[in-house]
Amino acid sequence: MSAKVIDGKEVAGEVVETVKAATAKLMADTGVVPGIAVVIVGEDPASQVYVRSKGKRATECGFHSVTHIMPEETSEADLLAMVQTLNDDEMIDGILVQLPLPKHIDEGKVIQMIAPEKDVDGFHFINVGKLGTGETDTAFVPCTPAGSMVLLKKALGTSDLSGLNAVVVGRSNIVGKPMMNLLLSANATVTIAHSRTKDLPALCKTADILVAAVGRPEMIKADWVKPGACIIDVGINRIDAPEKGEGKTRLVGDVAYAESAEVAGSITPVPGGVGPMTIAMLMANTLESACRRAGVEAPTY
Ligand code: NDP
Repeated sequence: MSAKVIDGKEVAGEVVETVKAATAKLMADTGVVPGIAVVIVGEDPASQVYVRSKGKRATECGFHSVTHIMPEETSEADLLAMVQTLNDDEMIDGILVQLPLPKHIDEGKVIQMIAPEKDVDGFHFINVGKLGTGETDTAFVPCTPAGSMVLLKKALGTSDLSGLNAVVVGRSNIVGKPMMNLLLSANATVTIAHSRTKDLPALCKTADILVAAVGRPEMIKADWVKPGACIIDVGINRIDAPEKGEGKTRLVGDVAYAESAEVAGSITPVPGGVGPMTIAMLMANTLESACRRAGVEAPTY
């Protein structure tokens, strides 16, 4: 069997087109312009790349977009004050503080300072709690699992996962746990696995839907995969690629892609799978926040 490749770049493009059109309509009908603020502290090069692409996407969507670049030595109090200013700013619907923060700042404190109704990353306890209790209509769902669900539903051609076994490998707060809740809300039967799970290969082999969010390059092998399964590979790992030349590297997922694609029914590639969906869903969440402010229905994806 050769799996269908789930093209995250293409689906992310479709999400952004929907956001663009809905933004134009929102502005025409109500005068509300979605506003997003991204705050970055310090000079981590990877974070700067992410922040630039978020700003670019936001502008492309027709949003009011601001980026606050704060120096590495910014105090926790000053960052909290910045978040408060953005909470109070009527032009801003979504606030995103780029992680990781410098070590002297308590990330948890900063996240909990963001007004839940502007927490488009979905990390505030209120949004985590809403997702956990099935209040998905008013929660903000973290962007990576939200994007993974969009890909999964496209690949399977249904949003009802009744009767399907899902295994999520990884139990982080930003990917594994919210993914578990989303799958459960969609009626899948869900098992969440982690580093203490016994006989992970056998467990994975029971999965009609296999989500890998581990951070270990190509850990999941073809003989862990149930024939015909849908694989969502969230992992992004940089490994050495001597075949490309000395000192060169390449990105791989948590799943051994080529061999697993021979067994699976559908699979997301890395790069080009879940990755592009994350920023697209950030735009979708920001639009949703603005729609709530305007009292109109937001699009679904
Ligand atoms: P974390 O490091 O927070 O969590 C990793 C999880 O994997 C933990 O629950 C851990 O178990 C589990 N794990 C580690 N080793 C094993 C093992 N040998 N067997 C089974 N489980 C194991 O990672 P994140 O959730 O933040 O990220 C996971 C991956 O997804 C990373 O590659 C990251 O780069 C990528 N990512 C991609 C995004 C995207 O936009 N596509 C966004 C966010 C993340 P335990 O809890 O027991 O320690």
